[in-house]
Amino acid sequence: MTQTLAAHCRERLAAVRAAERFRRRRVIEGAHAPQVVADGQRCVNFCSNDYLGLAAEPALAQRMARAGERLGTGSAASQLVTGHNVEHAALEAELADWVGRERALVFSTGYAANVGVVSALMTGGDHIVADALNHASLIDGARLSGASKHVYRHADAVDAADKLAACDSGNRMLLTDSVFSMDGDTAPLCALAELAAVRGAWLTVDDAHGLGVFGAQGAGRVAEAGLGSDRVPLLLATLGKSVGAAGAFVAGDDDVIEAILQSARSLIFSTAPPPALAAAAREGVALARAGDARRRHLMALIERFRRGALELGLPVEPSDSPIQPLMLGDEAQALAVSDALLARGFLVGAIRPPTVAPGTSRLRITLTAGHDEAQVDALLAALAAVRPAADSRRSA
Ligand SMILES: *Cc1c(COP(=O)(O)O)cnc(C)c1O
Repeated sequence: MTQTLAAHCRERLAAVRAAERFRRRRVIEGAHAPQVVADGQRCVNFCSNDYLGLAAEPALAQRMARAGERLGTGSAASQLVTGHNVEHAALEAELADWVGRERALVFSTGYAANVGVVSALMTGGDHIVADALNHASLIDGARLSGASKHVYRHADAVDAADKLAACDSGNRMLLTDSVFSMDGDTAPLCALAELAAVRGAWLTVDDAHGLGVFGAQGAGRVAEAGLGSDRVPLLLATLGKSVGAAGAFVAGDDDVIEAILQSARSLIFSTAPPPALAAAAREGVALARAGDARRRHLMALIERFRRGALELGLPVEPSDSPIQPLMLGDEAQALAVSDALLARGFLVGAIRPPTVAPGTSRLRITLTAGHDEAQVDALLAALAAVRPAADSRRSA
């Protein structure tokens, strides 16, 4: 039996609403900042990934505007045709230098980079051994590649070793986020590197939430762990988080990057990002590298939040990153606490299925260098005030 498209969609929407999983976009007014106006309401934003507070930094906007005046807006073609501007080339060289790799290749988004890189290098008969909590873009890249996929328990290098040992043919890729986007914890990178070396697997790390935040000059969690391209031959990260711009890149040895450029379909069949955006990203990279003061301030806020939350008996998780989830479990409860916080002027995302597994709904609080101590203290006070409602719902 066929159905009209409209009827089909109404049915799906009804199911989403019935499951209380209907999601709405908020309309944000003005520049991105710790203080935002969301749907007309002024609030303090604790759910952005702008970890260094660069998304609204005037130096980036000015550089983007100047480049726009000179270079226009559109890149008008794929990188492999005429879309690769001197700004992109300079950005790639600066990114490679930052993360200590021979070469970097820029993509329009992190999603495109991850899907493109994994599917370009892996194929049917190969094996991808992946952390259970990897970002959706890595999961989709693995699916698209046609390789067999083996999922190991989150951050469990022993289980990863077992899974890897069972792959006895084809090429093997060990695939993980560095800092996990919804949990804030970090993969056991050194153990995974050891394992990959022993088994001859290609360790691929998505450092989207580590770049800019960890390591000397903010070179990321992989750099902080001292893992060069011999241990982590494929390093991915985005430019839309701590770098304050948009886009992403993969970095590695020259031949590896060249092979990706020749075959990543999400790059080849996609218009290059605007050159002015690359100019803004270059400014973001320079400020992130020189951003020790921002990083120190951010780390102090993370400490302050965790200390305060522990004193309040809130369900904090083992995370030393700007991502500080409070695990609530129940979807309705996570939504209720998020709504109660918004009523008090704090924007905090309730993360629930399908983004996370059922029963692990949570508040995802993110701290940035743009916040100040008073805002963190005020958030803690608001959490203390809304908690009784949360507890009674949980025990109900
Ligand atoms: C945000 C994110 C991406 C996607 O990057 P976009 O540039 O937003 O498409 C990929 N991987 C991880 C781990 C992320 O957190």
